[in-house]
Amino acid sequence: MKKVGFTTTIPVDIIFAAEKVPIDLNNIFITSRSPYRYIEKAEEDGLPRNTCSWIKGIYTAVLENDIDTVIGVIEGDCSNTHALMEIFRSKSKNVIPFAYPYGEKDKVNFLKNQINNLMIELNVEWNDVKNTIDRIDKIREKLIRLDEYTIEGFVSGFENHLWLVTSTDFNSDYVSYEKELDKFLDEIKNRRSLNKKVRLGFIGVPTIFTDIYQFIEERDCQVVFNEVQRQFSIPYIEFDYVERFARYTYPYDIKFRLEDIKKQIKKREIDGIIHYVQSFCYRQIQDVVIKKELDIPVITIEGNDPEGIDARTKIRLESFIEMLQGKKG
Ligand code: SF4
Repeated sequence: MKKVGFTTTIPVDIIFAAEKVPIDLNNIFITSRSPYRYIEKAEEDGLPRNTCSWIKGIYTAVLENDIDTVIGVIEGDCSNTHALMEIFRSKSKNVIPFAYPYGEKDKVNFLKNQINNLMIELNVEWNDVKNTIDRIDKIREKLIRLDEYTIEGFVSGFENHLWLVTSTDFNSDYVSYEKELDKFLDEIKNRRSLNKKVRLGFIGVPTIFTDIYQFIEERDCQVVFNEVQRQFSIPYIEFDYVERFARYTYPYDIKFRLEDIKKQIKKREIDGIIHYVQSFCYRQIQDVVIKKELDIPVITIEGNDPEGIDARTKIRLESFIEMLQGKKG
């Protein structure tokens, strides 16, 4: 079966229905044996050093994984994607653009056209897509449950991150993914709730650091919210398929994302927020609005390469956690 890579979350059910293999390019980059080598290869080929590492990782992921079709999200994710798609075209890759609406009044209609276009490009009929959605929704339901277990303290923040972030392509095989998920959900039945002193939330793009969750969760606190990873899992199964992508907050403006973040802070009783930002990413600028709008403590942590957290970041995180523990008495 042919592999179809994509640069960020898209309606993945269409790729499965077209009997092709979906590959979230971010995931194969970061889970590869040596993500740093992906970055080096991109730089050797001429990508600027001051480009976000995820972009460099995606670049090499396409070239080294036998991917000839790439769905590039050209609106709602990253402006770098435009140039990346130009490179892929110049390397004779088949590029399919997909866009989320920006400032459109009728989001749903815009998305409907994008979804139809994707179905035409991948040569698949709605009936087949609908059957696949119905099947995959059963897995999405389980992921919603897993997220609830995270709130209740039965699933760690890192586990939550892993399951939700890989739901963008279900590790390219939703049947195996579901089996593993069932096993995991079975296992956690025997766990005791963590019930740690401080409850934290991660917002922003998924972190590139390899050990940040472990570092945090060793310190009498638990991560009970992964904003963007949860959004990647499209947890809106009660809505019509197209509408789900209008509710999905990640591609839209910070005001829209903040509505969801504020709701989750309340629901999950979060004490502090870690705003993760990626070096050279335009989304860093949104930090100004986030700090102004949220009424709980926020720490901004910046990462660049796929490696462990540096000493300075460790000290900042420790002080932040201690401050929150002190506040809780
Ligand atoms: S982290 Fe920012 S710059 Fe990097 S790929 Fe994502 S949106 Fe683009």
